[in-house]
Amino acid sequence: MIGLISATAAGASARDRLATAWPGRTRVYNGPVREAVERAFAECEQLVCFLATGATVRLLAPLLTDKASDPGVVCVDEAGRFAVSLLGGHGGGANSLATEVASALAATPVITTATDATDIPGLDTLGLPTEGAVATVTRAILDGTPVTLHADAVWPLPPLPPNVMRGAPLAVGDGDAAAPGGALASEHVISGAPEDAPQQTASRAYRPTAGTSGPHAPAVAPPDGPGPALAAQQPVAGTDTAGTSGGVVAHAGPVPGAADPEGVVPAAPGSSGPRLILTDRVVGIAAADVVVRPPSLVVGVGASRGVGVDEVYGLVRDVLRDAGLSPLSVVELATVDAKADEPGIVGAAGRLGVPVRTYPADVLAAITVPNPSGAPLAAVGTPSVAEAAALTAGRGGELLVPKRKSSPEGRAAMATCAVVRRAPRGRLAVVGLGPGARDLLTPRATAELRRASVLVGLDQYVDQIRDLLRPGTRVIESGLGREEERARTAVTEAQAGHAVALVGSGDAGVYAMASPALAEAADDIEVVGVPGVTAALAAAAILGAPLGHDHVSISLSDLHTPWEVIERRVRAAAEADIVVTFYNPRSRGRDWQLPKALALLAEHRTAATPVGVVRNASRPDGTSHLTTLARLDPATVDMMTVVTVGNTATREIAGRMVTPRGYRWQSEGAR
Ligand code: SAH
Repeated sequence: MIGLISATAAGASARDRLATAWPGRTRVYNGPVREAVERAFAECEQLVCFLATGATVRLLAPLLTDKASDPGVVCVDEAGRFAVSLLGGHGGGANSLATEVASALAATPVITTATDATDIPGLDTLGLPTEGAVATVTRAILDGTPVTLHADAVWPLPPLPPNVMRGAPLAVGDGDAAAPGGALASEHVISGAPEDAPQQTASRAYRPTAGTSGPHAPAVAPPDGPGPALAAQQPVAGTDTAGTSGGVVAHAGPVPGAADPEGVVPAAPGSSGPRLILTDRVVGIAAADVVVRPPSLVVGVGASRGVGVDEVYGLVRDVLRDAGLSPLSVVELATVDAKADEPGIVGAAGRLGVPVRTYPADVLAAITVPNPSGAPLAAVGTPSVAEAAALTAGRGGELLVPKRKSSPEGRAAMATCAVVRRAPRGRLAVVGLGPGARDLLTPRATAELRRASVLVGLDQYVDQIRDLLRPGTRVIESGLGREEERARTAVTEAQAGHAVALVGSGDAGVYAMASPALAEAADDIEVVGVPGVTAALAAAAILGAPLGHDHVSISLSDLHTPWEVIERRVRAAAEADIVVTFYNPRSRGRDWQLPKALALLAEHRTAATPVGVVRNASRPDGTSHLTTLARLDPATVDMMTVVTVGNTATREIAGRMVTPRGYRWQSEGAR
């Protein structure tokens, strides 16, 4: 619930506007302001105070306890011009609340949390567990101080600014090491470090050593690129994280495949600074280190009926500890269907804070495991539960810890477990940018553009949204006609583990990149589609309501589709009396197709059938006109245009193109 507090009539009027806008979400607190604030603070998750910030700060000060539990507080000035995120920007949700309140009241949101204000993702917003000096490393990232990223594998992180340099996976006992990034000539990194972070600082400290990279290599490396694999089989040096043992077993080394063929360039002596460490291994950390725990470990569990929670949980904890693995990287416990409700397993998962995933016995029985046994075969119908379930849930990852049994004192073991490390899955977002206007780009598309560390697209589309990209985004752009290459590049980058956005104008699935990309992709990457406003819809809104009944889009480009196929589809639409929108209607070298297509439609529609021509819909130089099948002048049509031809019921009404919906009441009214 959001508590609303105001002191004056002006404040109350803004307050009432918000209460009316969000009836179920808000509660108005009346009475003396101090008491109202106290009650709301105790009862609500969030507060909006229609008071001066100074007054609000004084009222709140005695009530504050800690960042994790205090409500998020937004202040709105009495005139309703600004919505200030005052307290609990991230944890309390005040930053997003300020944005929402501002939008409801037509005010300006004011957000001062450094990571939001400077466009850098906060370490606490990655959605992954962290340990160590979060505030110190966040500060260093913001200040533009070199921070070294040591990642065991490439995870699909959002872009990190250029002062976050890729180092080697944290090798045990290893100091800092920075590796230069290899780069395609066509890729570059968006610069835009905070004002107080001069670029030279980062590039001076980390300029690639001569001879280790090509002349076009960027001075900074992609933030989450693959790092060189180093042997990791020595004891951990440095301070241990609380309560964890320092040993790292042979199995738990850096993920294979993360090797960088270019090798390692050791950082200059004395360059040890803040480090951002991405690993599921238990590692020693120093005062200026943050460890981010990737969702990489799957624990398979088998158990006899009636096993205790302590026995299962204790086994998992011991196995992880002995293997030098962090429980914070465990994503799920996996077992056989028959054990889905086994209280000991469910309880242990609860303690670890992860779900239980189960598989049918025959699926597990088909998995080849190192340690099959007769007991589970007799009990549940598969020779392996722990190893087979871990390998299945681990999507073909590496078995780090083979089956181990619990060792309760004085009785037989009732639980087994095994651990698999899942290879990271990159993320491919296929994002439609809409027809051109910024306000026709969806908020979800914007979020995906900022979520991606690699952006792939046609240069002119990238220009459309370049200002939205976060500093550190690697942009791979190419010219017209390189569709297949772009699709392949996007998939390859995602397969390398990155968070990739493949962009297209309008909807990226309509005569665009989605299908060639997904034709290349296997299930080793996650794919997210973001719909966009396609040209036919953008044009329809300008023309009136031409798509009020059945309609179809046909591309007149015969570059990839034989003309016979196109002609057959146009004829079918003509015979079926369907409204048609032509994409790619005409170009310099392709000028006879449009007249031919219109002639086919004219065999079934009158010469007076309305035709809408929209060029550059929603763009600054956009034009549109309404004509008829007989009068259309092909010279007004080019590749920036769509042409919408009405059906036999389509009319021009008050200068607008209208295709009746065909409701009976409508035709009766017309009679
Ligand atoms: N994916 C795009 C279509 C790509 S095909 C979409 O969903 O809109 C390219 C064709 O789309 C162009 O030749 C033109 O016919 C049409 N088109 C794209 N954007 C347009 C715009 N803003 N105005 C008019 N037509 C447009």
